[in-house]
Amino acid sequence: MSIIRPIGFDAKSLPLFPIFATMMSMMSDEVQSPSQAWDMVGHDHAINTLRRAISSQRVRHAYLLTGPEHIGKTLLARRLAQTMLCTGGPDPALSPQNPCQTCLACRKVLHDNHPDVHYIARPQDKQFILIDQVRALQSDTARKTLEGRRNIFIIEGMHEMNVQAANCLLKTLEEPEPDVLLILTVPDPGLLLPTILSRVQLIPMHLLTTALIRQALQERWQVPAENAALISALAAGRMGWAVKAVENEDLLHERQTHLETLTRVPSLSTVQRFDIAQKLSAESDKIKGMLELWLLWWRDLIFAANNCPELVVNVDMRPLLQKQAARISPVESTRVIRTILRTLEALDQNVNARMALEVLMLDVPTLKN
Ligand SMILES: [Zn+2]
Repeated sequence: MSIIRPIGFDAKSLPLFPIFATMMSMMSDEVQSPSQAWDMVGHDHAINTLRRAISSQRVRHAYLLTGPEHIGKTLLARRLAQTMLCTGGPDPALSPQNPCQTCLACRKVLHDNHPDVHYIARPQDKQFILIDQVRALQSDTARKTLEGRRNIFIIEGMHEMNVQAANCLLKTLEEPEPDVLLILTVPDPGLLLPTILSRVQLIPMHLLTTALIRQALQERWQVPAENAALISALAAGRMGWAVKAVENEDLLHERQTHLETLTRVPSLSTVQRFDIAQKLSAESDKIKGMLELWLLWWRDLIFAANNCPELVVNVDMRPLLQKQAARISPVESTRVIRTILRTLEALDQNVNARMALEVLMLDVPTLKN
């Protein structure tokens, strides 16, 4: 939001003074940060890279947005699609630098019903993104746009693509249709084949500071200060997670339930640990989120053991953290963190979840009561 414009004054309402209106809009662009202009929180660097490409009319045919789950990759992909197709700019033939959010094209992209924006993701009942889904890129659909300047394909979770589909995509990356823009997302570029990586431009998205997330939650989502402090700490740099937690109270309850189970593991017998592994493996869509929670818990144990309470994420569970940190050494916690990371990696490679969780459970140190 511009801080220059006086309250109740809108430059667009002054058609008789076009030069003045243009000056005002240039000034408002100057004071708006890239993230404000794209209606996002943070990620100015990524947004600026894309804006520079758009304003110099050097948009590549494929971008790869990278960063952890819930960091905002799909939102950035959607904002890029809006900007590319926006008709609210000064020259209707060209994409403006920022999406106006009000023209028909911007609204259609926002509501997932623009005929030139196609989403491809792993179907819920399948293990991979399949070749038939990628073939859409080589069909007639890809060759002509219906309403906009570009035909945009957003492929979410590129690491969930099987080999045949990836090879099929490679063909499109090597010989792209002129109007096609591919926006791919992946948590870590290391999960993709070098042949794919060499044909896309990487746009890395980084974790945001807790302070930035807390401020956004209070100012834009009107979250009370105390809740904003807890959610922003738990979000661990991911705005998307924070917004999900605000919109869905179940997420915080679920975290509580999972942590109550997981923090008991060091006091449990092998049989009891295997029992937990079995129960958790049955909730296949929640395993990764649950392991990420546990990862933060072990990270907190290291901070608590080193007397750095201000760096702790699970601020509402400090008494239990202190109690366990007094009995588990940072060396042991680091070892568990490594095992959790290996387990997450193994799950990405579709190993048997129950077996992976059992191995992890055995690696957690034992606390005698
Ligand atoms: Zn627009």
